Amino acid sequence: MSSVLDSALPQFTPDEAARIAADLFGLRGTASALGSERDQAFLLDDGARGGVLKISNPSEDATVLDFEEAVIAHAGAVDPELPLARSLAPRAKFDGHQVRLFERRHGHKGGPELDDAAVRELAGVHARLCLALRSFFHPAAGRELLWNVSSTPQLRPLLGEIGDPAREALVARVLDRYEERVQPRWERLRGQVVHGDFNLDNLLLDERGRVTGILDFGDCCHSALAADVAVALASVLRGRPIEDVFRVARISLDGFSARLPLEPLELELMGDLVAARLAAIVSISAWRSRRFPGNAEYIEAWDEDSWQLLELFDGLDPAQIAHELGATRSSTASPALAGRRNKALGALLTPLTYASPVHAVRAEGVWIYEPDGGRLLDAYNNVPVVGHCHPRVTEAVVRQTRLGATNARYLAEPLVELAERLLATFPPDSGLDTVLLVNSGSEANDLAWRLAAGATERGGAIVTENAYHGVTAAATLLSPEDWPTPHPAARVARIPAPGSGADLAGALDAAIEVLGGDLAATFLDGALMSDGIHVPESAELRLLVDQTHTAGGLYVADEVQAGHGRCGPELWSFARHGIAPDVVTIGKPMGNGYPVAAVVTRRELAERFPYAGRTFSTFGGNPVAASAALAVLDVLEDERLPERAAGVGERLRAAVESLRKPDIVEVRGVGLLAGVQLSNGELAARVADELREAGVLVGLTGKQDDVLKIRPPLAFTDEHAELVVAALDRTLG
Ligand code: PMP
Repeated sequence: MSSVLDSALPQFTPDEAARIAADLFGLRGTASALGSERDQAFLLDDGARGGVLKISNPSEDATVLDFEEAVIAHAGAVDPELPLARSLAPRAKFDGHQVRLFERRHGHKGGPELDDAAVRELAGVHARLCLALRSFFHPAAGRELLWNVSSTPQLRPLLGEIGDPAREALVARVLDRYEERVQPRWERLRGQVVHGDFNLDNLLLDERGRVTGILDFGDCCHSALAADVAVALASVLRGRPIEDVFRVARISLDGFSARLPLEPLELELMGDLVAARLAAIVSISAWRSRRFPGNAEYIEAWDEDSWQLLELFDGLDPAQIAHELGATRSSTASPALAGRRNKALGALLTPLTYASPVHAVRAEGVWIYEPDGGRLLDAYNNVPVVGHCHPRVTEAVVRQTRLGATNARYLAEPLVELAERLLATFPPDSGLDTVLLVNSGSEANDLAWRLAAGATERGGAIVTENAYHGVTAAATLLSPEDWPTPHPAARVARIPAPGSGADLAGALDAAIEVLGGDLAATFLDGALMSDGIHVPESAELRLLVDQTHTAGGLYVADEVQAGHGRCGPELWSFARHGIAPDVVTIGKPMGNGYPVAAVVTRRELAERFPYAGRTFSTFGGNPVAASAALAVLDVLEDERLPERAAGVGERLRAAVESLRKPDIVEVRGVGLLAGVQLSNGELAARVADELREAGVLVGLTGKQDDVLKIRPPLAFTDEHAELVVAALDRTLG
């Protein structure tokens, strides 16, 4: 492998080089020597375009030179704007040496003085080159090359050449780390043909830091893409003030990722790859400068700066370096994190769920993973409706984020497409024809409330006894769950949950009476989730709508919980009852975790709103949120989730019932929703904690918190439902 590095440079003088250029390529001019590692390079000046003459080391393999030329030709063909130093003539031979003539590019070389814009630009050009080469293949691409980062373990025999024992030990530690962390995972890194030496010595820049020349493909090879990024980084970081190194590294990675995003593993190993590159520089240089003292100045040019960086990397642990370079953060021990949570957020934020809180480091489908790698079956969260991290949604968010996140004052397809798609999901005779995108269920209900109050010019509302409609000032007043004793500021009358068996008609009359002709709106969560999960009768809901209308109020169907197929097979829970709400609010699962919500109403009502035509929320319907919501609708449809989930839910409820546990009072629900009424709240809390210990997440609901809330992602299957039932069976003894 080291034969080329091990052999002496050719020894032509500039005059001889000028003659060779004239004889072989007809280019007549003067020649001046350029530094080089293992061949000779001369700048040719003929008063016109000139050129660069390269006289190869006689031990250089001709197929490798073919490969190098093919790389340049391929990259230039794919991305013609790349400022490559192209080949000007077919290769020729002189006295046993391969001789090539390349285009002469103009510009200056950069160093540590390059500003951030130039660093970003360099990395961007590098990414373009990598993109241009990713389709390239050549039989010689797998050539053995000590400079390839994959050859790092082969540096070990050179360590003795370093001389200084402390430095030798440092490089040995870099190799140890490489063998421990990178080598076993090398095959999992993206591989392709790369430049191999995208360092500042091989790049020419103009006065504004733009790249005008990419030179010297002599180290091109098949390697890990991340290794090539590391080679470039090592060069850009050399000579920088130590305290600026990671900042500049991040700027450079930004420049690269803007065109070619890096994968998590690539970022995680980047620090090790940079250190490995630096180790190669200092060890190959120690070996070769002993062997070729005449070329020592060229060989050792970067040594001192490389040592400084090596010392910096050596002093930090890999997780710290990965964090500095933007890889995902490593996880803190749960108790320590809980302590920090309490210190920074404790007084205002809701407490952690479960006696032993969940520490989620990642999630997929119906599973949430904790730092120890253990997984929890998510039978609780409705937000990841199509499954945690569904690729369709994740990719839609990422792709649109890359395209840009603007606002609803600019035209952009996703918002309009989403509004049209949503409208098409409502019953054609519902008259629901107008959408406004917001960011949370609370904001949607807040707007629905303002719309109702504005359109009716009234100030009273009817909600269920333990309703929850949100967290804004207005939505809080509509949420008795948060104020069990009547709220002084609320002109809100309460009715029992439809489906709970209570006398709805009587309570409704009383509520309308209490409000004394001031009913602006009735809000109803179609799943009665905070009221303990009840299944309303269609007749009850028709009564509710009719009485509300008769009293001059509007009916708001809060589908934040009940919608998006939760009460399937219908997408919207109100649709199964044949009622026509005046306003529908949707949210929570709408973006599968990306914040997005909406208000849907009729044009005629919207136009009566005092803010008609003027409502705006900065993030409302931004293209990223809208793309997430569109992807969710697509997946619900493609995977037929509401229909499928309804079957799973039905079988789940039947299986829980058939457990015939004395502590189970009742099992309620529709679609993929189960409320398991237990005998008391204390028991319910204990069961939820024990289920969590058994790896199954459920919640609690109802006024007494005595109902187990089983409300999983719709991606839940029978197999998952069986796990819940089995765990419940064990827990209830
Ligand atoms: N309406 C209902 C029925 C809800 O359950 C919730 C949230 N649990 C909201 C509105 C408020 O949604 P958000 O938390 O997104 O503001």
